[in-house]
Amino acid sequence: MTNSANILLVDDTPSNLDVLTAMLKEQGYRVRPAINGELALEAVKASPPDLILLDINLPRMNGYEVCKLLKADETTKDIPVIFISALNDIEAIVKAFEVGGVDYITKPFKLREVLARVATHLVLVQQRRQIEERYVRDMKHFEALDKMKEQFVQSATHDLKNPLSIIMGYVALLDGMTLQEFEQFGKEYVEGISTGARRIQSLITDMLDLAQLQTGAHLNMEPTDLERFLKDGLRGADVTANQKSIALVYTPPHKSVDIMIDPKQMLRVLDNLITNAIKYTPDGGRVDVFTDIYDDSVGIRVRDTGFGIPQKDIPHIFDAFYRVRGEQNSKISGTGLGLAIVRTIVEQHGGVIEVESELGHGSMFSIFLRRA
Ligand code: ADP
Repeated sequence: MTNSANILLVDDTPSNLDVLTAMLKEQGYRVRPAINGELALEAVKASPPDLILLDINLPRMNGYEVCKLLKADETTKDIPVIFISALNDIEAIVKAFEVGGVDYITKPFKLREVLARVATHLVLVQQRRQIEERYVRDMKHFEALDKMKEQFVQSATHDLKNPLSIIMGYVALLDGMTLQEFEQFGKEYVEGISTGARRIQSLITDMLDLAQLQTGAHLNMEPTDLERFLKDGLRGADVTANQKSIALVYTPPHKSVDIMIDPKQMLRVLDNLITNAIKYTPDGGRVDVFTDIYDDSVGIRVRDTGFGIPQKDIPHIFDAFYRVRGEQNSKISGTGLGLAIVRTIVEQHGGVIEVESELGHGSMFSIFLRRA
């Protein structure tokens, strides 16, 4: 902005106007002249300049009065005013600062001094604007964080209160039971308590994990062999798949490549995607894990023949606590935090996660990661 800045020059002596205008235009500034205070105020209203050079001795309304009016107006108070004064008039210079001037130049004009003072104040204007813009941006960011925190606390409270009241209900039932009643119902109630406690435990673990990740987890990135990583990720999954008679089909990468990841964190991603694929696929279905290798990146895909996800829910499934509502889903327990954790880890790796899904047919989650 500084070189193409817009300067308003207020002086009633045509020769001064000419000299200064020529000097400033030479440097690339856009200069508008005004020959008295009233015209200067009108010009500022019509289009606020970046800087004003203002002669003190103007007819009728002098420079001080013009400056005071500008400083009293919220829309013009931040425009810097440099006063033009007669040489060595100390009183006049002191007053210039008192009414809100930022600097002064003296007549007869010395080219280098005028340009140096103008340039300095334009840089200051630019820096102040940058600070203000940054402040507005930061405020918006903090407001968004505040809102997120509020939602998080609300959902967390709700999701924790439910299992807690179930536990308390069973405890109340157990309390004061006869030995005979205990023999009959005790096992069932204790199981109820333990289910509730496990639910609270997984919620708290996931919540703490997510909070820790969001506050900027440190990643230990290292080149990792893709096939080894996939094998580690699949370990144990076949047991869960078998329990539901789901065929877990793994197709190894067609060539050996290294990916740049924090293996511990990325294993949580893969584990989450495979667990979900098995969880949201009916018995007897199929889950495929396979890869696509590109020049700079690798795509890891987990495809299932499960329930699928309604289109309207897809934009939200990576949000914390979001779970798809529906008959099939409501029977499956979960915290709604898994995919929020997955997305956070993938994004911290500079990677991308995508999902394609067809209701009633299945879903495919793909993560794209940089090759080492
Ligand atoms: P949850 O603990 O509920 O599994 P997630 O964050 O892992 O939480 O997933 C959010 C929601 O996205 C799930 O509740 C489910 O409705 C949906 N979802 C995730 N993965 C699949 C999938 N493979 N097939 C169908 N729905 C899925």
